[in-house]
Amino acid sequence: MRDDDLKVLDRIDLRELEATLDQHTRRKEKVDRWTEFSWSVSRHRMFNSCRRRYYLHYYGARRVREADDKVVSAVWWLKQVVSREVWLGTVIHEVAAETIRALREGKEAEPDEYELIEKARHTYREGVQASRRGARFDGRWIVLFDHVYPHDVDSPDDEEVEEHIGHLVRAFLSSDAYAFIREQAAHYIYEVDEPFQSFSLHDVPQLGDVRVFAIPDVLVHTPDAITIIDWKTGDARRESIREQAGIYRFYAHQRYNLPEEKIHVWIVDLNGGGASIAPSGGVPSLAEAERFARQSIHEMIEHMEDVAHHTVSISRFPMTEDLSLCQRCGFKWACWRHE
Ligand code: SF4
Repeated sequence: MRDDDLKVLDRIDLRELEATLDQHTRRKEKVDRWTEFSWSVSRHRMFNSCRRRYYLHYYGARRVREADDKVVSAVWWLKQVVSREVWLGTVIHEVAAETIRALREGKEAEPDEYELIEKARHTYREGVQASRRGARFDGRWIVLFDHVYPHDVDSPDDEEVEEHIGHLVRAFLSSDAYAFIREQAAHYIYEVDEPFQSFSLHDVPQLGDVRVFAIPDVLVHTPDAITIIDWKTGDARRESIREQAGIYRFYAHQRYNLPEEKIHVWIVDLNGGGASIAPSGGVPSLAEAERFARQSIHEMIEHMEDVAHHTVSISRFPMTEDLSLCQRCGFKWACWRHE
């Protein structure tokens, strides 16, 4: 199904793709909870990395069933493309979340390091196999970059990846953050990677309320403070991590109504052995985080055609001129930048 859907891109050209998508994303339909405008730091990052990428991800691939169009389906598949590093990060986050949920439920006081590592390796391998076959894994589609663009990246060394998985799981188990979580009473562990965590940002011009998504990996709420823990398996010192930390703090304040000085964010660098580091420049204040979100939303609204129906035209979303960004971009087939 995946490969069949994608092949349509070999039978058309960029002009045809743009015309089809433009019609799709300018169609005025009443918005629902899946298509209304919402905001997140990852949306902001994509908007700023390449406008076309943002368009394809958030608009070109939406309402895929209703569209019943091969081009829209192909773009939807490309939206699912992730690198091996991202898949590995997902696996580690899932293992960490399961371990902490078990701790909260009192099921497993002492997790077995060997078993956890084997479990992570097994999940990683199963996902790779599913992607290779174009099949679902555990109810979801895994679409790996090297299976869609086999000529564009070197095959990863399986032994090295398995070694790296062991390193990351050990870093998680020996981290100060995990020790801190273990010390807490179970009922203080409020959130463990809960899906769809969000809050409403009020009084946004033209939109009113906007749903802002922020999903902490772990949120510990003791009587007098909140600690949010964010596991990082990639570069833990990126500038955008500071923005994310500010939005986590804003989320915790909105949801639990604690003042900002009582809301802490720990970035845990699993690649660097599990050390907790502060984002460079410190965690933004609530005022700074709110300003940042409102400014980003304002810029996105300016790119819309019809705000009430949340429609956009592809003409407002050009492709980047920085070809280095395209090399690792899952959408490059839809931009004719894959060869
Ligand atoms: S391939 Fe390049 S131009 Fe196309 S969406 Fe990706 S980064 Fe943007």
